[in-house]
Amino acid sequence: MDVAVFSTKSYDRQFLEPAAGPHALRFLEVRLTPATAVLARGAGAACAFVNDQVSAAVLAEFKSLGVRLVALRSAGFNNVDLAAAKRLGIAIARVPAYSPDAVAEHTLAMILALNRNIPRAWLRVREGNFSLEGLLGFNLHGRSVGIIGTGQIGAAVARIMLGFGCTVLAHDPMPDATLGVRYLGFEELLLASDIITLHCPLTPQTHHMIDAAAIARMKRGVMLINTSRGAIVDTPAVIAGLKSGAIGHLGLDVYEEEAGLFFEDMSDQVISDDVFARLLTFPNVLVTGHQAFLTVEALTAIAQTTIANISAFEATGRALHEVAPPGVA
Ligand code: NAD
Repeated sequence: MDVAVFSTKSYDRQFLEPAAGPHALRFLEVRLTPATAVLARGAGAACAFVNDQVSAAVLAEFKSLGVRLVALRSAGFNNVDLAAAKRLGIAIARVPAYSPDAVAEHTLAMILALNRNIPRAWLRVREGNFSLEGLLGFNLHGRSVGIIGTGQIGAAVARIMLGFGCTVLAHDPMPDATLGVRYLGFEELLLASDIITLHCPLTPQTHHMIDAAAIARMKRGVMLINTSRGAIVDTPAVIAGLKSGAIGHLGLDVYEEEAGLFFEDMSDQVISDDVFARLLTFPNVLVTGHQAFLTVEALTAIAQTTIANISAFEATGRALHEVAPPGVA
């Protein structure tokens, strides 16, 4: 099948090309938007990533071009208008699990980097400054870690944190009894956790779940980590929390308005997003540009499952991992 691959980076090509099999992959660097959807002309499938817009307008264009499948290279599908896809008869496939450990381990990297002030220490030592003033950390052993969403990634984080000797608290409408962690209501978890880490999907229910009211309930000086989706957090509320000291450390791999920033080299440009720019001024904030998935293991799995989705769709009319339309379990 001919496949138009949007938002291609060198690492996508590196892993997709060897996995492609009989499919002809057309690598496009542009992001998928209503203006670029036409570039899928002649393709039976489009392949998209997290900041591609699989909106009603894009799907309508795909319909007119004969594109019958959108194969997402991601687990999350909050960027897809599922109702429009259903109406237009376009199948949406995703990669439900591609090394949850990749994201879980990046989450830990952020926790440890913040907890022990590693970015500040590294900068100092490079400058010949070996002073320890301002680098006081705290042990993870014995701390309470609150995990919001204990699916594949949250469960992997839970297992790692248990290994560190932490008390692991969790909140999830679908508790996992095998994990050996204590499930609490959302507000109870906020009250009891020294570190809160978000691993639920972005849905209408979780949009701005971490807002001013939620921050007001947290322990003063809490560490907040978001490697899930930016819009789960209300960023201006978090900035207010950092300014007041309510939030002691913040680690973000995702940002609500990341689509215009992340995955691109913007180093010779002025950042026009004042909210994002403010985040970068805090000494206790660590931001990475949506890289938690970026491991050899995860990219290998993403490429294999994406191609398997396309092959199954071509052979049977059903992808292996189709996203159910709204209202269908
Ligand atoms: P998953 O589907 O296995 O788990 C999600 C869990 O969240 C489920 O157990 C679900 O019951 C729970 N949940 C749903 N609504 C909730 C709510 N209101 N409160 C608490 N829990 C709730 O998904 P996963 O593979 O663990 O991935 C989680 C998220 O991580 C994805 O949706 C995606 O947005 C994000 N992600 C980020 C990266 C990255 O590179 N930063 C990579 C992969 C996934």
